[in-house]
Amino acid sequence: MLKLEGRVALVTGASRGIGRAIAVRLAAQGAVVIAGARGTNAQATVDEIAAAGGRATAHALDITDAASVEAVVAATLAAHQRIDILVNNAGIAKDQLMLRMKRDDWDAVLNTNLTGAYTCVQAVLKTMVKQRAGRIISITSVVGQAGNAGQVNYAASKAGLIGFTKALALEVASRGITVNAVAPGLIDTDMTKGISEGAHEEWAAKIPLKRLGTPDDIASAVTFLASDEASYITGQVLAVNGGMYL
Ligand code: NDP
Repeated sequence: MLKLEGRVALVTGASRGIGRAIAVRLAAQGAVVIAGARGTNAQATVDEIAAAGGRATAHALDITDAASVEAVVAATLAAHQRIDILVNNAGIAKDQLMLRMKRDDWDAVLNTNLTGAYTCVQAVLKTMVKQRAGRIISITSVVGQAGNAGQVNYAASKAGLIGFTKALALEVASRGITVNAVAPGLIDTDMTKGISEGAHEEWAAKIPLKRLGTPDDIASAVTFLASDEASYITGQVLAVNGGMYL
């Protein structure tokens, strides 16, 4: 049986990498996927889902723009009258040592990774409270747990998402809404393609499970947390990192 038959799932950053894998996997489990990314970027993901017999629509979504987020949520409610799952996946990195970090790069990363999640949750929460059901899953990072030199802005945004997850979980538990985070380790996507092939191998050697993660590894965890199997789990951070940080 499909785990998510008929559930309506909004996935941010669904055009590439981890978000695309999450969208494809949720749809494969029967969810109706609202795939958001900037411009028309989510269309290819939706085409892939449709080709596999799933249901999805592509939406122009910029999580740094509240009007854009509200428009996607309004269109979703007009079409489906509910939103069951929100996956806060969209994120960026602008790495630099603190001594050289420009205020613009601090602001961009915090505005996207942390404030973007705030904006998306604000847009769906009343609906989930009325439904007395909902799943909010945010993609944080091992870097938010362990820190990483050159990523002060990114680490702060991802650690912020962990606190956000725990506090929100406490606020909305009585309304039947669970709030969790998934903390990936090093995953092979556009975001990490700046790491050269040789460095990939060096990293893999340091990871207890001896490989980088794949977007599908993260999609598995998100699909579990979105499913009824995870109905007694809230306020948690599920690390999917090959044992990189224990
Ligand atoms: P990618 O760079 O491959 O993809 C980023 C996604 O975010 C794209 O779909 C992009 O969409 C979207 N996005 C970026 N900014 C915005 C915005 N303002 N509005 C809407 N969408 C936006 O990254 P990954 O797939 O690697 O990362 C996905 C998430 O996982 C991020 O939150 C990242 O921090 C996190 N993560 C990644 C790890 C890794 O090793 N790759 C490790 C730990 C966490 P588009 O540009 O098409 O609009």
